[in-house]
Amino acid sequence: MPKPPAERADEQAELLGLLRLMTSILRRFADVADQDIDAGINDALASIGAFAGVDRSYIFLADADMVLIHNTHEWCAPGITPEIDSLRDVPFDTISWWRPRLLRGESVYIPDVQHLPDSRADERAILARQGIRSLIVVPLMGADRLRGFLGFDAVQRPREWSEAGNLLLRAVADIIIGGLMRHESYTALAQSEERFRTLVRGSSDVVMILDADTRLCYLGSSAESVLGWQAATRTGERYLDFVHPDDLPPIGMLLEPMQPAQPPAGHILLPDHRVMSADGGWRWCSATVTDLRADPAIGGIVLNAHDITRRKEAEIALQHQALHDPLTALPNRALLADRLRHALLLAGRRGQLIGVVFIDLDDFKLINDSIGHRAGDRLLMDAAKRLADALEPEDTVARFGGDEFVVIFERATATPASLTAAAERLLAVLARPFRISKRDYSISASAGLVVSNGDAGVDELLRDADAAMYRAKAQGGGRVQPFDATMRAQLLRRVELARALRGSETRGELTLHYQPLFDAQDQSLLGVEALLRWPGAAGELAPPTEFIPIAEETGLIVPIGAWVIDQALAQVRAWLDAAPAGAGRLPLGVAVNLSVHQLAAPGLEQTIADALHRHRIPARLLCLELTESAFMTEAQTGIDVLRRIRALGVRIAIDDFGTGYSSLAYLRDLPVDELKIDRAFVRGMVESDRDRRIVNVIVTLGREMGLDTIAEGIETDAQLAVLRQLGCHRVQGFGLMAPAPAAAITALVTRVGSLRSASPALSS
Ligand code: C2E
Ligand code: MG
Ligand code: MG
Repeated sequence: MPKPPAERADEQAELLGLLRLMTSILRRFADVADQDIDAGINDALASIGAFAGVDRSYIFLADADMVLIHNTHEWCAPGITPEIDSLRDVPFDTISWWRPRLLRGESVYIPDVQHLPDSRADERAILARQGIRSLIVVPLMGADRLRGFLGFDAVQRPREWSEAGNLLLRAVADIIIGGLMRHESYTALAQSEERFRTLVRGSSDVVMILDADTRLCYLGSSAESVLGWQAATRTGERYLDFVHPDDLPPIGMLLEPMQPAQPPAGHILLPDHRVMSADGGWRWCSATVTDLRADPAIGGIVLNAHDITRRKEAEIALQHQALHDPLTALPNRALLADRLRHALLLAGRRGQLIGVVFIDLDDFKLINDSIGHRAGDRLLMDAAKRLADALEPEDTVARFGGDEFVVIFERATATPASLTAAAERLLAVLARPFRISKRDYSISASAGLVVSNGDAGVDELLRDADAAMYRAKAQGGGRVQPFDATMRAQLLRRVELARALRGSETRGELTLHYQPLFDAQDQSLLGVEALLRWPGAAGELAPPTEFIPIAEETGLIVPIGAWVIDQALAQVRAWLDAAPAGAGRLPLGVAVNLSVHQLAAPGLEQTIADALHRHRIPARLLCLELTESAFMTEAQTGIDVLRRIRALGVRIAIDDFGTGYSSLAYLRDLPVDELKIDRAFVRGMVESDRDRRIVNVIVTLGREMGLDTIAEGIETDAQLAVLRQLGCHRVQGFGLMAPAPAAAITALVTRVGSLRSASPALSS
């Protein structure tokens, strides 16, 4: 039966109104990124509900397993009680026949609940209980499954829906579900981004949509602020073309298999990579990709990128810092070890030779202390630069420690001879004077070279190169010493000695020998020099010239040195007590050798004061001998320590005087009482005019400056005669008496009955 015109006009007005509504809802849901999806849905429910004159409009969403449904959104006309709070976790089959219908994508329309047949009495009861007179429910069909339904209840009076109205409601349902699903994938994406966002707070996201060939289809607005990319110019370009070539392989690998569309749920985290910004610079990006090509709303691969440049740069700087020496910016030990390991591997594989050169600047500490640490740093930086400049691109130079550098030569055609020549060139480069603060400083360096075909370990090579360098130094420095196996044995012995030496002073393994010091004029005994002897645990005697440097390097000299001081003073006490009454308290002094390391360690002053006190020895009977170079290398604090020790009354001597670098001006400022002429001059004095003049100068210098002069190493009468003639105060040497155990000195002291004894050797 045709409808009356008035009714048809109503219907048309209704359809027109619904269409208008739909357009506005459509617009509202168009933005994928709309965070406020709930507000959008509520607005849509309210406007449709009010327009259609229904009392309640709502959405139910079903769980994935379709067992439970939940009333998630509801709008109610004024005066109508909301139901939403009581309608969570409702079994989907509460009204059993709705579920299959909705699953098939069909609507449920009940024009009048009252007229439901008795076969649907349950349904009638349920709806009537809610006061529902009529209702329409349309399915919310997602891309994959039914998501729920959109419903409209009439409570006050029944409401009829035309077929067209029903269709338009279904369209609205589609719009809503589309919005919901896009929102879902957006939030899923946002969730995965959340972890990066916490990492990279403050960075902005760049959202891009790519096609299967990574061509840009869509570019979010922040691409412009982050990368300077404009949608107008970038669209259609391949994302991969803007990825840094070094970072490309893994990124390409992940994006290439995107060829077949992936399920939309998979978010892939791309490795951090650099992307070229519009100005040609690189920005570090952390990005996830989500293949939403199957989603008609997106139809592409969503790439969500974060600018992590700041974090990455900090990371890289940290990494650089961990692997490089801050002063010279050269690789440090850790990186050196890594490069060397790599070089060895390659050498072994290619059958090539590599060279490892251990370089140590000669007497750097001396220069460092005399020109100041700032200038010393400058010199090291310059040296590092010279070494780096002198290398081929495949070589490596690293700073190993203070003034030590290690170079790895990785040259394809290397031979032992060419490697030696290359190492020599490095030393030549360092031998050119360094200009620092408008002054030139010349410095030499020693180098040890090891050649390897890759069958050695990193530590072994470095140790061998070090041993060879050590030999180069021992031979006077300024040269390259290729490693040979005897050096390894030597090195092992040094390690062995160091181990044996540890604790030797407490195990009673050390002894002192004493060498008398005589008055040059009447050869009476004035005192002794305490000289350390170490029979060694194995009973084999290591000479002090071998074990003392080891004790110094290992720091063992500090406890050992304290033991020497104590032992020497205890012995002097014994001699003083043993001297016959008539001898009185004659000044039997004792000279003890002191190493710079003892000066640098805290507590020396106290150790000395305590020992003097313990053994009741007047301070003036103790003389500390320091080598000339010790004075020169010791920093001001060390000199201050000496000054305080001297203030106790202890005498200070410069040992091996004439071999070092002392300038007269320097000497004037040092806390010194005696100059001990090096035995090298004494030895040459008789034959060499030059040596004789040097000794003369030292004695004269001592006299001028009010310092005592002592000559050591006197072996012949002729030497003694010259020294006497020159006016040297005291003498010491094998020719007078060799170092001997304490008992020999005791015999000397007691037999003669006076400390003013004649020397037993050399005729006077
Ligand atoms: P030094 O202080 O210059 O000691 C003198 C060295 O010359 C001693 O060697 C001594 O045995 C040797 N000597 C003495 N008369 C003659 C001679 O007529 N001809 C020759 N050719 N040599 C002579 P020694 O005992 O082997 O000591 C070597 C160095 O070891 C000492 O040189 C000293 O620098 C150091 N030293 C010895 N004992 C100690 C110690 O307790 N502490 C420290 N820090 N160094 C010590
Ligand atoms: Mg000495
Ligand atoms: Mg000496």
